[in-house]
Amino acid sequence: EETTHAVATETEDSAAIGELRAAFEAQRRAFALDRQPSLGERRKRLEQIISMMLTNRERIYEALSADFGVHPAPMAEVLEVLAVTARAEYALAHLEEWMQPMPREVDPAYKGVLGAVVKSQPKGVVGNIAPWNFPFEIGLGPIVDMLAAGNRVMLKPSELTPASATLMREMVSATFAPDLVYVAVGGLDLARAFTALPFDHLLYTGSSNVGRQVMAAAAQNLTPVTLELGGKCPAVLLPGSVTPESVGSVIGVKMIKNGQMCVTVDHCFVPRSDLDTFARIATQFMAKAAPDYSRSAACTGIISQRHLDRMTDLLAEAENRGTRIVMLEQDGLVDRETRRMPLSLVMDPAPDLRMMQEEIFGPIMPVIPYDEVEQVIERINASDSPLGVYVYGDDVATIDHILNETSSGGGAVNACAIQAGLKALAFGGVGMSGMGRHHGEEGFREFSNQRGIVVRGEGPLFDAFVSPSQNSAEKFPA
Ligand code: NAD
Repeated sequence: EETTHAVATETEDSAAIGELRAAFEAQRRAFALDRQPSLGERRKRLEQIISMMLTNRERIYEALSADFGVHPAPMAEVLEVLAVTARAEYALAHLEEWMQPMPREVDPAYKGVLGAVVKSQPKGVVGNIAPWNFPFEIGLGPIVDMLAAGNRVMLKPSELTPASATLMREMVSATFAPDLVYVAVGGLDLARAFTALPFDHLLYTGSSNVGRQVMAAAAQNLTPVTLELGGKCPAVLLPGSVTPESVGSVIGVKMIKNGQMCVTVDHCFVPRSDLDTFARIATQFMAKAAPDYSRSAACTGIISQRHLDRMTDLLAEAENRGTRIVMLEQDGLVDRETRRMPLSLVMDPAPDLRMMQEEIFGPIMPVIPYDEVEQVIERINASDSPLGVYVYGDDVATIDHILNETSSGGGAVNACAIQAGLKALAFGGVGMSGMGRHHGEEGFREFSNQRGIVVRGEGPLFDAFVSPSQNSAEKFPA
């Protein structure tokens, strides 16, 4: 049966690959005829994304439930639907300003050179390879930035979320011509064919291991990449800050998608004397926020049986080593049918446990005691740079010290994970958590060719190219 299935997938993929390549060529040809879409045209495309999301919101909730087993609708509304429309609204409000040429100083030695500008030009055909955890937000959100920048876009959703992928393909093809936005659905062969295309830019979001393969494939075409990868984001609770606010913040965020979020708190550093306090407050928080969490509609299912097994294996290993595990719910249940599982704290885990070596990406929260802040900094720096470092406390000097002495793509003070949610804030990783930025203005620039242009000449030439303050919107209608 395995073999039949593999053959079927292969045949499906080879048809999908043929269509994918044809769509890529069609996008290239269309771009050649539309290298500088006008402000009005780009606005129209962004408005189409908004109405596409809003008219399909109920189907989006359903697709997510089908893919995850259980997926809370209110979370789908905020994090998958409104996150995308908010991004489009923000781009609509700022697009005209982002499209203006940016004047630069001219060295006096260059005689006769009157001006210089950096102009953001569309790159061309841009790809987006998305993971399963936020199929719509990571699948369609970046398309906002890419279309705002004037590009044509191809999306490849994850094979682990077939319902969401199929719905996105349907929504997108009902909204955009395939030579403007195209969605490719298929398995691993299709994913590889996708990365082999000579894109003008490629965004990949997913694990660091696959990120390496994507970058290697892109290198064959010298395609520039933006990589949004994973890692283990730590939260540091400073002495005196193990309070219902901070503990509620980290546990509440870990409940989003039941820990399956790239910027979630992977583990917490807590002053040694506060370990029990942390566990008590966390248990009280859970009892209030989501009684019977693992049986409730608030609990997102783990994406696959394999990932669920990985979670229970991580816990079993810790348990076998005599580690104290605090389930944040009485009689929490691992439900293999809907793949829901309770959230557990793992108190003072040994550093060589698997859960301390790899990204957890699920409902397990190691709580690590510390005596000195310097030890925490050392431990953070001994691991790969994460997407976020989160610090809770009110001692400005210590918070500043931790932020200065560690490295991460982003971060937060007395909060966690929301650096990924602010539509105006550059988002991305550093080192093993990725490279490049998107969201907001940085996203617009990332998917644009920043073209430096020097103009020698006076009069109308100067007015036309160098003096954007004089009514630039009319002079640069692009
Ligand atoms: P994954 O790397 O397994 O898959 C992501 C995508 O890559 C899928 O679309 C998949 O089909 C495709 N893919 C797989 N193998 C490929 C190959 N050889 N060539 C081309 N494409 C291939 O990642 P995942 O398990 O779906 O996602 C989980 C990881 O993603 C976690 O590490 C998480 O931290 C990270 N993540 C990062 C961000 C971010 O913004 N930085 C956001 C969400 C998830």
